[in-house]
Amino acid sequence: MRHLTLLGATGSIGLSTLDVVARHPDRYRVYALTAQRRMPELATLAARHAAAVVVVPDDPARRRFEQAWNDLSTASPRPEIRVGAAALAETAADPECDTVMAAIVGAAGLPAALAAARSGKRVLLANKEALVAAGSLFMRAVRERGAELLPVDSEHNAIFQCLPHPGGARPGEGAPAGVRRLWLTASGGPFRTWQLDRLADVTPDQACAHPNWSMGRKISVDSATMLNKGLEVIEAHWLFAMPPDAIEVLIHPQSVVHSMVEYADGSVLAQLGEPDMRTPIAYGLAFPERIAAGVSPLELARIGQLDFEAPDLRRFPCLGLSMQALRTGQRACVALNAANEIAVEAFLAGRLKFTAIAQVIERLLSESDFCGGEAPASLDEVLALDHEARRRARGFAGLDQE
Ligand code: NAD
Ligand code: MG
Repeated sequence: MRHLTLLGATGSIGLSTLDVVARHPDRYRVYALTAQRRMPELATLAARHAAAVVVVPDDPARRRFEQAWNDLSTASPRPEIRVGAAALAETAADPECDTVMAAIVGAAGLPAALAAARSGKRVLLANKEALVAAGSLFMRAVRERGAELLPVDSEHNAIFQCLPHPGGARPGEGAPAGVRRLWLTASGGPFRTWQLDRLADVTPDQACAHPNWSMGRKISVDSATMLNKGLEVIEAHWLFAMPPDAIEVLIHPQSVVHSMVEYADGSVLAQLGEPDMRTPIAYGLAFPERIAAGVSPLELARIGQLDFEAPDLRRFPCLGLSMQALRTGQRACVALNAANEIAVEAFLAGRLKFTAIAQVIERLLSESDFCGGEAPASLDEVLALDHEARRRARGFAGLDQE
């Protein structure tokens, strides 16, 4: 029996995880659920899954949770309510749980994801921004504390599945032997075929209408700019210890091939499936076993055709900026992620044009303190650098004047 903590339980990944967990009550027990907003939904989930603990951001949220719990008039015992960011990291490291799903969106999820790794748990990592902001710290914690890191991002999960098992190539164990390149596939998002001069005027709803995947709004915008694939290249670099030049991006509009591993002998292994995050989540939960995830079978005869093309960096400047940040170093990666989070939030709020997201990132990456220098050596240094990057990105996005 595994005892789970779900960081970001009310999100798209959190709900998909609970869906898989509910199919296997003999294997999984929910220990803790956390959320930043939507307290009535958190209360409903906590009651349905009999969570022992919930973590909420502040006292007003605690009162909203208590009210929502009373409104449910459930007979279940009310979970213990923990409050604040420190409680979030403590709960990720709580000895009562052995498995943590890290599914908070953004670098805000880093301290809790790192706490889970430092406490040597099985960590299912969806929160790619944590690795982008603190790749070396995170992977060192995994190695030194004996955590079991399992990638949930579909591409990295696919690569993990295509690497040799057992006996090697666990994230954190160094570059897998005999591998020449990793191929990350990308759908190209909703604007893959749009005329370039129309992109300046796209709306948040257009950007969030992903052709194949249903996801949270931030990652949906990242998919539309392909910054998401850039974050994933950086994520793959840390997870699989592969150099930047050995990580390729390939557009594949059907999202059926989730990624590939190319070996020295010319073999290419791919993992295929319906685009449904419950597959990689179930794989991470049950590894090395396989369990039912509620995912429809893949009907290749119905799909008929799979297409591939090279990405166009003029259409997707954020992908090129990500590669630049990876080659430059970890300070640049912190800046890339922070600038993107600020710019995407402003775009979603109707305060920034879609095409300005790349401009804000590019401007921040050209600042001298982000294009060189020592990599941050501690969590505090990462958070301080992230804070400064956000402050400047807000200025470049023109958000200070409003
Ligand atoms: P989402 O927006 O749907 O959910 C985010 C969750 O995090 C919510 O529970 C929210 O309450 C919580 N949260 C938000 N801000 C927080 C903060 N400051 N502190 C604590 N909790 C906070 O996001 P999502 O689509 O589920 O994505 C979660 C993570 O998984 C992201 O890093 C994303 O890149 C990654 N991911 C998602 C998918 C997908 O299909 N949705 C696929 C691959 C990777
Ligand atoms: Mg992905």
